[in-house]
Amino acid sequence: MKRFDIMTLFPDLVDTVLSESIIGRARRAGHIVVKTHNIRDYSEDKHRRVDDTPYGGGRGMVMMAPPIYNCYMAVLAETKAAGAEDLSRRVIYMSPKGRILNQNIARELASYDQLIILCGHYEGVDQRIIDEIVDEEISIGDFVLTGGEIPACILVDCVARLVEGVLPAEECHQDESFSCGMLEYPQYTRPYEFHGVKVPDVLLSGHHENIEKWRREEALRLTAQRRPDLLRKEEGGS
Ligand code: SAM
Repeated sequence: MKRFDIMTLFPDLVDTVLSESIIGRARRAGHIVVKTHNIRDYSEDKHRRVDDTPYGGGRGMVMMAPPIYNCYMAVLAETKAAGAEDLSRRVIYMSPKGRILNQNIARELASYDQLIILCGHYEGVDQRIIDEIVDEEISIGDFVLTGGEIPACILVDCVARLVEGVLPAEECHQDESFSCGMLEYPQYTRPYEFHGVKVPDVLLSGHHENIEKWRREEALRLTAQRRPDLLRKEEGGS
């Protein structure tokens, strides 16, 4: 079982996204546990404030350390109460300054029992909370979003689908893009002909070896065309 605890100012946003489709079903079937924690509930301020202006001046607001710390301690207490205090865990801050997420990082994170994910908002969070509780910052790409909620959903989705039971069978992700250092081959389904374009004959041949060969060649062709960097990485063994 894998547990994801997401600390956020917008729990509904995260819950809505992670209640649908395969991830929603995996939650309901108990293959994964996803809990959201509203940082605002842990504010020490009577107006439930969670942010303040930055020291040194400048635009925007910065999320304060105490509500995040209180929320984090509550997550640990809840984990302990659930009898799961010995879980291997990693605390992640979704941040454009972090390591850029890829399939290898997803696999690495899938080896932990619990991921505690902090979502920033506004101009980000007070550096002292990152230094105190965060193991690693993860980015979903070289661009800036308004908050860490969508990045957190992306992280949970790609890690969760590596958890046993979430996808119907292991083969589901064995051939996928990035799993073998290449992009996936093109996929086709019914109808056989669409707008005058037919499915490649080999896929209807029933000849498994030829189908495999075609898929490998197509994967290689696509990867060389669109992401030659992936092939160079494979050659370099990294
Ligand atoms: N001032 C920050 C900076 O320049 O690095 C950006 C803050 S951003 C507007 C607000 C929050 O969105 C961040 O704290 C982070 O949690 C999240 N975020 C934005 N872009 C992200 C990305 N590419 N990957 C992961 N999280 C991101």
